[in-house]
Amino acid sequence: MRLLVVLLLARLVGWMSRLRGHGGSSLPGMLALKWQPTLLRDLKTGLRQGSVLITGTNGKTTTAAMVRRILSYNRWHLVSNHNGANLLAGLATSFMRDRRHLIPRADLALLEVDEATMPRAADELRPQAIVVTNVFRDQLDRYGELSTTLRYIQRGIDRLAEDGSLILNADDPQVAYLGEGRANVVYFGLDPSSAALASSLDNHYDASDSDRCPRCATRLEYPQRVYAHLGHYRCPHCGYQRPSAAITVTPGQGGGATLSGEFGDLSIILPIPGIYNLYNLAAAGALGWVLGIHPESMALALADMPPAFGRMEAIVVAPDTKIWIALVKNPVGFNQVMDTIIDSGDKPNIFIVINDRYADGRDVSWLWDVDFERSGLRVAIDQWWVSGIRAWDMALRLKYAGIPQTQIVVLPSVSDALAAAIKGSQEKTLYILPTYTALMEVRDLLTRQGLVKHFRDG
Ligand SMILES: [Zn+2]
Repeated sequence: MRLLVVLLLARLVGWMSRLRGHGGSSLPGMLALKWQPTLLRDLKTGLRQGSVLITGTNGKTTTAAMVRRILSYNRWHLVSNHNGANLLAGLATSFMRDRRHLIPRADLALLEVDEATMPRAADELRPQAIVVTNVFRDQLDRYGELSTTLRYIQRGIDRLAEDGSLILNADDPQVAYLGEGRANVVYFGLDPSSAALASSLDNHYDASDSDRCPRCATRLEYPQRVYAHLGHYRCPHCGYQRPSAAITVTPGQGGGATLSGEFGDLSIILPIPGIYNLYNLAAAGALGWVLGIHPESMALALADMPPAFGRMEAIVVAPDTKIWIALVKNPVGFNQVMDTIIDSGDKPNIFIVINDRYADGRDVSWLWDVDFERSGLRVAIDQWWVSGIRAWDMALRLKYAGIPQTQIVVLPSVSDALAAAIKGSQEKTLYILPTYTALMEVRDLLTRQGLVKHFRDG
């Protein structure tokens, strides 16, 4: 009874908050948790298949979107935080949305969870599966050291359901090591031997602090590196090496990939670019397999998948400007996006928006770890616009990278800069690369101009 009252009150608050023009994606959950601290525990009881948590530095949102697509295709009903609200209040709000009709409808809670929220979320939900995508240095001021992030994830893993599965990226040494000595571990990874991948492997080496052996701290050797510290590795000192993966993805030509496992080889066409999306595909495939989904249906479900919110989505603006939006939040992700842009080969324009609010990470020094010095960048990109609260830090970074000042326009006001960038990109491609809160601003501006729908569902 108390639970019912809490749900109704929190819904009312959420409804009023939306009425007043606030997003309201976390507020009802935040209040409900305050009134009923055991809320998640109470609400999870109706789920036939329990919960799955997806965590890691990069790829949570896209991996969750792929799995959501696969499961929806198979007519599963889900509790899901597809707006990316991945702290505890956001998770609670997602559960409450399913309880609109008081009787739970969902089969499974599929949740992307912030690393630091893992211990508490896993403790409340005792998940059936945990997926760890990768661990990169990200927003140092919030999480501290990489080892702290790993400890958070480890504490979450310790709270898996007794027969729960652990789904880990074999190509990330620190993540793979989380499975050492455990039962029910399913590893996924890339097959970097394919020709399609080999061409993109010889580029820059990202600032990496994760390529030391997790067992003995010796620097790992990489017979095959995919990017940063991801790849096929082994320790020359103690012999620790990449575990063999039950699920692998082999990149093919023209956006194609092959997902392989016990079930055989599946050809998949992914409409979203980037090597990092192949890892997301491998993670999603592994989770689908663990959940008993028919492999053929995975390929069908993913064939026409739109990108997740802010992750390399394309919109077309008249006359003939194609806009791609890709969230940037750390050096590795930024480098991957830049690779994709350079590979596109159509000499596009770039609009970078850097904010330093809490959700962006207050410290923008990570911009110095992005490889803007790489060869070919100056000719690959035509015009740069730079905006946001830290526009001048970004402009300085580009200046030091040797990008000619004549190619860079700095306009701290996001709306002014966006208008100028669109105007200057007629009959061209414009890549918009914002940090998290900047992405919200850009989306709002584009929405107000009728260029995109307000928040896409799914
Ligand atoms: Zn070692």
